[in-house]
Amino acid sequence: MGLVPTMGSLHEGHISLVEKSTSQNGITAVSIFVNPTQFNEKQDFESYPRNLDDDLDILARFPVDIVFAPPAKEIYPKPDTRVFDFGGLDRIMEGEHRPGHFNGVAQVVSRFFEIITPDRAYFGEKDFQQMVIIRKMVLDLKSSVRIIGCPIIREENGLAMSSRNRLLSAGERNSAARIHKALTLAKEKAGEVEIPRLIEQTIQFLHEDPRLKTEYFEIIDDQNLKPLSHWSSAGGKRACIAVKIGNVRLIDNMDFSF
Ligand code: AMP
Repeated sequence: MGLVPTMGSLHEGHISLVEKSTSQNGITAVSIFVNPTQFNEKQDFESYPRNLDDDLDILARFPVDIVFAPPAKEIYPKPDTRVFDFGGLDRIMEGEHRPGHFNGVAQVVSRFFEIITPDRAYFGEKDFQQMVIIRKMVLDLKSSVRIIGCPIIREENGLAMSSRNRLLSAGERNSAARIHKALTLAKEKAGEVEIPRLIEQTIQFLHEDPRLKTEYFEIIDDQNLKPLSHWSSAGGKRACIAVKIGNVRLIDNMDFSF
């Protein structure tokens, strides 16, 4: 059995995970659950798009066997007080800007693994830090679930697909395309321009559009997520970014290994 955990408002990014699961498993389950414990801002939780009827219509077009869309009180009959130790993987980037976020993600994902007992679970590289942290959680819990990573699916203009894109106006959507452009431009200079200078130039490029506010842009080791300051360090590298456009917060990343 394959499990595709989602928060709904499905788009082609989610569908790519569903298709990978249906191609690799006899049974595919998709969960749709806007998990309250992973939101650190009430406003973000409340404005998160919810479209269960549309989601069910979309999933009906695929050989999905189970849709699991429980009410929150079924998942958390009493408050979940478990605290996970991610060995520091959660202290930077998303973890730094969204305190408690990854603990909430681990709470819900571990609950779903217990309830659904999948053999494989599908996670998008769109949420790169989340994928690395879930792999760590699975190791620590000695869970037998295999975590399958899936590449980022993008709009034609390069914007990484996200349920939150629905909250953008047409103008903001145009501005948001600059995020992918910035990553692409930075990648062209990877290994040539020193990392701190490249980070500075990239943020400068993003802020040429006054709608964009960069929360972080880091070039990290893709195993331990440590921010890098030299290209000479061994191992895979990834550029990770979070940008705010109005009230909408978008994340993206790109493989910078060479
Ligand atoms: P979400 O509903 O945003 O929690 O996402 C559910 C799963 O879909 C996560 O594993 C995400 O990383 C993945 N996902 C979301 N957007 C994309 C995308 N554009 N490309 C690939 N995977 C994605």
